[in-house]
Amino acid sequence: MPGKVLKHLEATEMEFGPATQAGQGHWRLARGEDGIAWLVFDRKDSTTNTVSQEVIHELDRHVATLEKDVPEALVIRSAKRVGFAAGADISGFDEISDDGAAKLLQQGHGVLDRIAALTCPTICVVHGAALGAGFEIALACDYRIAVEGASFAFPEVMLGLHPGLGGTLRLTGLIDPVEAMTLMLTGKTAHTKKAKELGIVDLICPERHVPAAVRAVVAGKVEKHEQGLISNSYRLRAARSFAARQMRSKAAENAPEKHYPAPHALIALWEDHGDDREAMQEAEIASFARLLDTETSKNLRRVFFLRQGLKDNAKGEDEITHVHVVGAGAMGREIAAWVAIKGKKVTLGDLELGPLAQAVKQAKTICEAQHLSGIETRNALDRLIPDPEGYGVAQADLVIEAVPESPDLKGDIYADLGKRMKAGAILASNTSSLELTELAGKVRAPTRFAGLHFFNPVSKMQLVEVVAHPKTSKVVVDRLAAFCGSINRLPALVQDYPGFLVNRALTPFLMEAMVLMDEGVTKEVIDSAATEFGMPMGPVALADQVGLDICLDVAESLRGKLEKPMADISDSLREKVEAGQTGRKSGSGFYEWKDGTPEPDTEGTGPADLTDRLILPMLDACVECLRRDVARTENEIDGAMIFATGFPPFRGGPMHYARTRGIGEIKGRLTELADTLGPRFTPDRGWDDLG
Ligand code: NAD
Repeated sequence: MPGKVLKHLEATEMEFGPATQAGQGHWRLARGEDGIAWLVFDRKDSTTNTVSQEVIHELDRHVATLEKDVPEALVIRSAKRVGFAAGADISGFDEISDDGAAKLLQQGHGVLDRIAALTCPTICVVHGAALGAGFEIALACDYRIAVEGASFAFPEVMLGLHPGLGGTLRLTGLIDPVEAMTLMLTGKTAHTKKAKELGIVDLICPERHVPAAVRAVVAGKVEKHEQGLISNSYRLRAARSFAARQMRSKAAENAPEKHYPAPHALIALWEDHGDDREAMQEAEIASFARLLDTETSKNLRRVFFLRQGLKDNAKGEDEITHVHVVGAGAMGREIAAWVAIKGKKVTLGDLELGPLAQAVKQAKTICEAQHLSGIETRNALDRLIPDPEGYGVAQADLVIEAVPESPDLKGDIYADLGKRMKAGAILASNTSSLELTELAGKVRAPTRFAGLHFFNPVSKMQLVEVVAHPKTSKVVVDRLAAFCGSINRLPALVQDYPGFLVNRALTPFLMEAMVLMDEGVTKEVIDSAATEFGMPMGPVALADQVGLDICLDVAESLRGKLEKPMADISDSLREKVEAGQTGRKSGSGFYEWKDGTPEPDTEGTGPADLTDRLILPMLDACVECLRRDVARTENEIDGAMIFATGFPPFRGGPMHYARTRGIGEIKGRLTELADTLGPRFTPDRGWDDLG
């Protein structure tokens, strides 16, 4: 398909002569003998089209040319293989917010308004994705032709924004406004068929039929989408207010306004101005400029780049086509299913047949949750081979061990694997609490041994810690990081340390919650302090979710290995584990779990320093990891904590939060807490290096 896209564009170029030279950079304008002008978006020095100020300025000049000599029709499309446009170039946003955002937005609106006002038919041909500002350019045209596979979305909410180049008014003015608002509030994608159903797209065709489709539109043979009666009813304020109330309560559930203002601003925008295009345009500009300057949006934009940073760890080739997983328990079966879904051959071994059968069932469930087609599911399941005898070990490029957390058991398995693995293959452990340096002593080739620490559930948690011990070779680390990239996970490169980075930082958060419960603070109060801060789940519910047995394992293994004392392990944790009340998986832990959700009971009050007692030790552990080179940079720590624990993205990560609140202030608070509650709060000496 992409090849054909380019072929068609080359054909148009050959047909219409060389591209215009004057001011050429990101767009090419050419006119055919039939009088149809083709304006081709081809961002300089990039494989993807993104919309920057420069792109808009250049578009402005082309529109001026078209206004002077109006063509028969204007077709806008992309020359990039990957799709139409990936949205605004957000690397320029910080600059914009300092530089009169409203003025720049007005200029952008002006250009798109002039496209909309051209007296000839304007047609946007979209292949691949039209996101954000790209979608807005498409909406400024009279017609949209979707090449099969095209998709449309406004992902701005993920960046703490809403559409800012007229998208809010154009989409609500084109299709059912409630559908339009849902797309903008959720950031969800409308794929080709859905886009046609909604009325975003007027025509769908394969790439080879694009010229014919354009001719049909120009000849007036394609009917334009009209909003229906229901849509018209939203011209009434009362109808909009009714719908807005529902949208607000839904938005508040997922994104409380004080942390995530954008969805609420978008709802207000439509409720207040949905019947007045000009007022809505003015309000959209003002609202977007305001949001651009919020800490939430700045931090969410930061998270976008943190993700890029982690992705960059995965550059290079993994040279891994066959993976063997040892142990088909909670983790092994998820890892195996995910790797198979992502296209690798997987053999999966276990002592028992039950877990292997369970693994295949689980794989089907994940395929469904990932909306895979029947064929994709069948192919993924074909790649996942239950292998009770472990025949796959001898062929695998990578063996991932995911058996219970016992050094002796793991040691025995490594001894056996060492005899059977092929030359050059990598052995990785999914251990969450054992020291790799110790385990490496039980391995035949320690240079090719490392940690590959997935989080539960693998299909939802994006981060994987790639853990090196002193003997792990750099090539092996790079290949494992590339492997993570190839299965669409984000690798954080860390060094062996008790709990590595993520569990080292998370354990004090969980353990302090137990201390607080022992002091008589209710679990509901503790958990809501954490969720108020923005954590996706409170520490008590999280401990139940992870499994209290696993929490106890991790806490015991960290105890005594750290420079600083940890909170005493709570008796109630031990008692729960002994009684088999291991949390969500057993139906009962600190909470009773019903249908996958904890059932809260009583409420109460907590101490004034509750949130700091939960959050600051997590920050302190991050600083310790930075000082001890467990993690390489503050950014990598922030990315890892956001993508592994859900540390509130709108706060930009634990290190960024510490810097925003003030290094001195945090150190001071920790010292106060240490004075009253004990040395577990003593600030790490790494705080002094942060300045
Ligand atoms: P689990 O008890 O659910 O599963 C372990 C599986 O290994 C079982 O199916 C068992 O039958 C099998 N097994 C035992 N001995 C074996 C052998 N000799 N050969 C082959 N299979 C054998 O354990 P889990 O929770 O999946 O944990 C596995 C590893 O992953 C542990 O190291 C744990 O620390 C780590 N981990 C767990 C989580 C989690 O949330 N569960 C998260 C991250 C990492």
